[in-house]
Amino acid sequence: MTIRSTDLGTILSVWAHPDDETYLAGGIMAAARDDGQRVVCASASAGELGTSDPLTWPPSRLGRVRRWEAAAAMGVLGVDEHRILGLPDGALTAHSRAGHRWAEQLFDDVEPDTVLTFGADGMTYHPDHIAVHRWVTAAWRNSGRRARLLYATPTVADLARFGDLYEEWNMYMTDDRPTGVAAENADTHRCFAGAELDRKFVALRAMATQTGDVIAAIGEEVFREMVAEETFVAAEKFGAVEKFGAVETFDAVETFDAVETLPESQPAANR
Ligand SMILES: [Zn+2]
Repeated sequence: MTIRSTDLGTILSVWAHPDDETYLAGGIMAAARDDGQRVVCASASAGELGTSDPLTWPPSRLGRVRRWEAAAAMGVLGVDEHRILGLPDGALTAHSRAGHRWAEQLFDDVEPDTVLTFGADGMTYHPDHIAVHRWVTAAWRNSGRRARLLYATPTVADLARFGDLYEEWNMYMTDDRPTGVAAENADTHRCFAGAELDRKFVALRAMATQTGDVIAAIGEEVFREMVAEETFVAAEKFGAVEKFGAVETFDAVETFDAVETLPESQPAANR
């Protein structure tokens, strides 16, 4: 079953780094804007560590460039409300209090009908992605679960088709691997082609510090296939409500142990 974009209402799209939203929800956000819906996109950090070459791209330079790239991509997608909180890239778990506050504020300000974010696996097990998943899930619960909360997920077919490439890129930041959902079991599964895919591709290409090497390595055609689908599952299916007690406890421990230092680098493929 796929929810039509006009049924999504006001969309709040919450992610960790600029490019997460374009990879995982760029097509859906653009379609919603075309239908006249409000879309508020939010990124916890500017993604200033997203490079394998920090000498050329020190954080101050990369953060600045990624904000411009994000502005260009949002312009292409028609998303005119993009907020970057500016927490330190790679260290979101050390800023749980600020993150929880931010997510709550977004729910209060936007009063979304639909919220798009990461699932518990953060797509890649990136700790920043998982932190955003927790903050948004907590805010959703605290707001009385009024919005439809949708978690991004790969499909089984996507993993079968591109899994080897993801391994080659060391995309997963742990030994765990996502299993994906069958497209027919997703709550929203959109396949983009033609002009819609052109638009998403142009938005992603605008984020050249993140996508330039990948597109050069696999070619435009394969890259377009790789980003053509956007798939989401309702939070309830992941047991978010039941699991939440444990997550909250973990967060409390995490906050207590927080060390506010930045890791040295972060893989560029932080999708
Ligand atoms: Zn990311």
